[in-house]
Amino acid sequence: MKYRIPYNVPYLPRALDHLTSVVERRQVSGHGYFTDRCQEFFGHLYQTDTLLTSSCTDALEMTALLAHIEPDDEVIMPSFTFTSTANAFVLRGARIIFADTQDHYPNMDPDKLEELITPRTKAIVCVHYAGVACEMDKLVALVDHHGLILIEDAAHAVSAYYKDRLLGTFGRFATISFHETKNITAGEGGLLIVNNPADMDRAHILWEKGTDRVAFHRGQKQKYKWVDVGSSFLPSELNAAVLYGQLESFEMIQQQRIELWNHYYERLLPLQEKGLIRLPVIPPYATINGHLFYLECNTNGTRNDLIRYLSHYGIQSVFHYLPLHLSPFYIKRHDSRRLNNSVRFSETILRLPLYYDLSREDQDLIIDCIFKFHTCTCT
Ligand SMILES: *Cc1c(COP(=O)(O)O)cnc(C)c1O
Repeated sequence: MKYRIPYNVPYLPRALDHLTSVVERRQVSGHGYFTDRCQEFFGHLYQTDTLLTSSCTDALEMTALLAHIEPDDEVIMPSFTFTSTANAFVLRGARIIFADTQDHYPNMDPDKLEELITPRTKAIVCVHYAGVACEMDKLVALVDHHGLILIEDAAHAVSAYYKDRLLGTFGRFATISFHETKNITAGEGGLLIVNNPADMDRAHILWEKGTDRVAFHRGQKQKYKWVDVGSSFLPSELNAAVLYGQLESFEMIQQQRIELWNHYYERLLPLQEKGLIRLPVIPPYATINGHLFYLECNTNGTRNDLIRYLSHYGIQSVFHYLPLHLSPFYIKRHDSRRLNNSVRFSETILRLPLYYDLSREDQDLIIDCIFKFHTCTCT
């Protein structure tokens, strides 16, 4: 029996209506009607200023510029993350100092950071893996004590909390991704959250190619001029329109993803009790936002066998990340340290299909296959 269950399928409610409306308005470039609607939505959610960007990668590059990262500054971040977290700062000439993750969860371990801080350290970037909060009280205390800038790569973490506060509101800057694989998508897209209003004027300038065009549009300037560095960080209205359709159904999408997450967790528990897999350990201060569901296999070999087994049944599962401290780009330039947890998670994590349209029946087929795999390999 061969099923056909992909890892991800984007859910795009009302996208065609809104795209038609962009075409009818004849404003396809950035910062139009739908960009404003999206920014209003997120401004309301986060109670601060936000800018829609053409990717989370772009939003991270903006944070590096806004934080005035300069050559030879050191930036601490987890090794277990996507390349964009690091590239944004490498592009400014920074030296990346990779930190290990916690034993039980692939988030950066705040207790292992103090020893990495030097007089050159400028910023700490935390990544809320799978939308599960890092230990923010400890991180905030650490950056305050050392006078560092905290940046949250909240790519996974839309509408997720640490205690009763939204992730993305702790750092001086935070970024969210609307890539097709994330909870809500613009195709390619992202969000910059600016938590200090004093940074907002410069953020607008970087966003609009180094010009004061935003101030000009508000009638605050007679003409717009080149006033700083910048790039084209703003998305087209087409992307904003696609995203906006999901914002209109945001609660429903989140609810559905969280239900899927919980169903995986509850049904896979018996395998954890038998010691065959490990399920995500959610700390008491964190919430689940249904971004991704992973399980941890006992060995790298079992993980790879399980991917092949599922694929044989037409079920697509994936793994990530390859630890950045061992990547070809990094080891050519730096000595690499041992970051055991980061390596272990990258070898043993398996991500299961999770998307709005995944039916309960298909989800149960996936779970049944995982059970079957473990009975044939263990008995
Ligand atoms: C997806 C992702 C990014 C990049 O997002 P894009 O929107 O594709 O640029 C950055 N960091 C993390 C942790 C991610 O998962």
